[in-house]
Amino acid sequence: MRRIAIVGAGQAGLLAAHALRQHGYDVTLYSDRTPDDFLSNARPTGTAARFDSSLAFERELGLERWGEGAPRGEGIHLTFGPNNRNQLLTLLGRFQRYFLAIDVRLQSATWMRDLDASNATVEIRQLDVAGLEDVAARHDLTIVAAGRGEIMKLFPRDSARSRYTKPQRILAMVNVTGIPMTFGYAPWYRPVKFNFFATQGEAFWVPWFSKGLQQSWSLVFEAKEGSPLDRFRECRDVEEALARAKEVMREMTPWDYDWVRGAEPCDEHAWLTGSFTPEVREVVGTLPSGRTVMALGDTAQSLDPIGGQGANNGNKMARVFVESIVERGEQPFDADWMRATFDRFWARHHLIDAFNNTLLEPVTKAGQLMLIAQYGSTARPDDHSPEERLADMFTENFNDATVLTEAFHDERKARAVVSDVFGSVSGPLMRGRARIVKGQVRQRLGRPAKLVGMPGG
Ligand SMILES: Cc1cc2nc3c(=O)[nH]c(=O)nc-3n(C[C@H](O)[C@H](O)[C@H](O)COP(=O)(O)OP(=O)(O)OC[C@H]3O[C@@H](n4cnc5c(N)ncnc54)[C@H](O)[C@@H]3O)c2cc1C
Repeated sequence: MRRIAIVGAGQAGLLAAHALRQHGYDVTLYSDRTPDDFLSNARPTGTAARFDSSLAFERELGLERWGEGAPRGEGIHLTFGPNNRNQLLTLLGRFQRYFLAIDVRLQSATWMRDLDASNATVEIRQLDVAGLEDVAARHDLTIVAAGRGEIMKLFPRDSARSRYTKPQRILAMVNVTGIPMTFGYAPWYRPVKFNFFATQGEAFWVPWFSKGLQQSWSLVFEAKEGSPLDRFRECRDVEEALARAKEVMREMTPWDYDWVRGAEPCDEHAWLTGSFTPEVREVVGTLPSGRTVMALGDTAQSLDPIGGQGANNGNKMARVFVESIVERGEQPFDADWMRATFDRFWARHHLIDAFNNTLLEPVTKAGQLMLIAQYGSTARPDDHSPEERLADMFTENFNDATVLTEAFHDERKARAVVSDVFGSVSGPLMRGRARIVKGQVRQRLGRPAKLVGMPGG
């Protein structure tokens, strides 16, 4: 039986560990935290909403345990404008199948215990380079799924695949409970509420299931440096972060202020602030002895949280790596094989990175065209309009980046999408623009912009 070591008990490492164990490998998981540590004194790595194509892998492995109690995310409700004082348009889209955002601390604790029960070895140990040497010497393959921890530095930046050399947003997350699980202005579905302020950054609220099994919300703020969203740097605890979140929402997203006013923190550790550079790293890490180890999940590739793609990406990477390990049979897991494995992942899933980066950048002309055409979507159950179909495609792109990512970067493709959905391009663009003008006049007259598109209005 081939021996495989996995370092890190996050989402990516544990999925790979379970999948390999189920294929009969001798698996050892090294974690710097016990299950109790995860439950009592850890912070969540992120919101980690998983869309259906990722949940499918968890279901195959028998690891999706919380779908009955957790709030189901059904779509996206987007408000888009140049800044918080001017809303240009809305997009209300539905997913084909719901997503779940489960507290990664609950997952890690549960999945570690399950792994232990499946006759894998679970060792509580923080590995440094010397420790990794020891582990790599005793295993046929060592996979490092240690998130963005120190050990990530073993894997150099892949400059051909990385777009950025510095952080793109200043981040804050605070996870809260005690407030309604839908929005008064669109109570017919439970979406991610997404606020895009082109010059200031983004703020979004994601239905989340806490380690205390509470139906909750993860409030995420993505500030452009120095913007009014960039106000979390000095926060020292969850109470301060939540107070700051409410203050920012009162000013920037007043449509959600009443909704959030009574929110309480899920627990004292359910918050984050900071920033990191979105980048792809080389999958091969070389130890001083010359032995090689393989990066997985955030260690291999960090995505900005803007598109909710990091955990989804790690999930897909784990699936491809396991497939490649199984195919390899008894042959060595050498550096060439590691690179070929990552190339296979990249060939299948590079559009995830492309889509996520698209959201970090100013909207392309092609993107504007599609956003304008869909304006009027409502996400109501009986809305089968072309506006809705296009908004649904935009939403589905979070689950499957092949749906629209390329159209965002190619005006011809964007026009072809609009024409397919509406039967023409000029008609929907004229209607969308007319609705935008109406909304602008409304706001000039001092009335609030509408939060739900008005077909024909
Ligand atoms: C604000 C925010 C919101 C997000 N929202 C989403 C979202 O909605 N959807 C989505 O898909 N992604 C989202 N992400 C990204 C997502 O949370 C991460 O991509 C994902 O959790 C990373 O999983 P991982 O297993 O690669 O790493 P981690 O979760 O970081 O796990 C690594 C584990 O390794 C352990 N470890 C580290 N070093 C060592 C060592 N030396 N020895 C032993 N153990 C070690 C760590 O303690 C940790 O438990 C978000 C991120 C942020 C910051």
